[in-house]
Amino acid sequence: MDPSPTLDSKLPSEAVETKKRKKRVGWSAAASSPCALVSYKELPEYMKDNEFILNYYRANWPLKQAFFSIFRWHNETLNVWTHLLGFVLFLGLTMTNLIQVPQVSDLIAFFTRSFPMSGDINVSHDSQEIFMRTTSTNLVDLKPESVVMPVTRWPFYVFLAGSMFCLLSSTVCHLFSCHSHHLNLSLLRLDYAGITTMIITSFFPPIYYIFQCDPLWHFIYLGGITVLGLFTIVTLLTPALSTKKFRGFRALLFSSMALFGIIPGVHAAIVNWSNPRRNVTLAYELGMAMFYLTGTLFYVSRVPERFKPGWFDLAGHSHQIFHVLVVMGALAHYGASLVFLDWRDTHSC
Ligand SMILES: [Zn+2]
Repeated sequence: MDPSPTLDSKLPSEAVETKKRKKRVGWSAAASSPCALVSYKELPEYMKDNEFILNYYRANWPLKQAFFSIFRWHNETLNVWTHLLGFVLFLGLTMTNLIQVPQVSDLIAFFTRSFPMSGDINVSHDSQEIFMRTTSTNLVDLKPESVVMPVTRWPFYVFLAGSMFCLLSSTVCHLFSCHSHHLNLSLLRLDYAGITTMIITSFFPPIYYIFQCDPLWHFIYLGGITVLGLFTIVTLLTPALSTKKFRGFRALLFSSMALFGIIPGVHAAIVNWSNPRRNVTLAYELGMAMFYLTGTLFYVSRVPERFKPGWFDLAGHSHQIFHVLVVMGALAHYGASLVFLDWRDTHSC
C-alpha cells in the first residue's frame, strides 16, 4: 500500500496545506499502520462512496478503535455527532412529555366536568374555568359524548420512537461501518430502515389527530404509508441496492413516501380550512417539508464537496448538512405534533 498521501502530488501550496491539516487531526503518513486514517484511493472498494471526500478515512478498523474514534477527528466525526446529539435531543423531548402525562389537571377537569349540571357546590374553580372555555369555544361541545379528556398520546410517541430509532441507527452506522465489508452492508441497511421508519412514523400524529373522528381515513392513510414503508424497507434490504450506484433510486423511494403525504395533507387542509390552528400547523409542516427536501438535494448532489474536492473532508460536506436538516425537519414536525395534541385535548369528536 502506498503510504504517501494522495494530495501531496498536487500543487506545492495545496500539498503544504494538506500536510498541515493532517497534522492537526493526527493523520499518520504510515497509512498501513492499523488505525491510521487513509485516503480515498487507499480505501477498499466497498468503502468508496464519495470520490469528492479525499482523505481522513478509517478503513477496516477493529470495533473497539472504531467506537473510540467518536472522540477523534476523521471524515465521519461530525456525521456521528450530528445524529447522536439529535438522538439525545429527542430522548430529552420524549422524557419531558412522559413526565407531563398523565396531566393531572386535565384528569381533574375530566372528572369534575363529567358532572357539570350537579350545581356549583362540588365544582372546583378549575373545572368552572374549563367549562367556561368550552362554552365560549363551541356550544356543540356540551354534548355529553363530547366530554373532553386528554387525547391518547400513542401516535405522538410512535413518531418520537421512530425519530430516535432513525437517529441512533444512523449514529451507529456512521461509527462502525468502517469495520468490515459485511458490517458495512448490514449497517447501511439498518440506516435505510431507520430513515424509512422515521418517515412512516412521522405520519402517525397528523393523520391520527386530524382524522380522529373518521376511522376509515385512519385505515386508508396509515395503512397506505405503512405498506409503502414496509415495501421500501424490504426493497432496501436487497444488498445490491445499498451500493452507491443506487443512491438516486434510494432518494426516489424516500421521496415517494414523503410525497405520499401530500394526499392526506391536502385532504386535511380542506376539511380543517376554518380551524384557527390551520396556519401554524401548515407553517410547521411546510418547514419540515423544506428541510427534508433540501436535505435530500444535498444528499444526492453532494454539494459543496464536488466543487472543491478535499476541502470539506472534515467539516461542511453534503452528508453532514443532510444530517442537520433531518434533525431540523423532525423538530418542525414535533412542533406541529404539539399543536395537534393541544387541539385534540380541547376538541374531541
Ligand atoms: Zn447519514
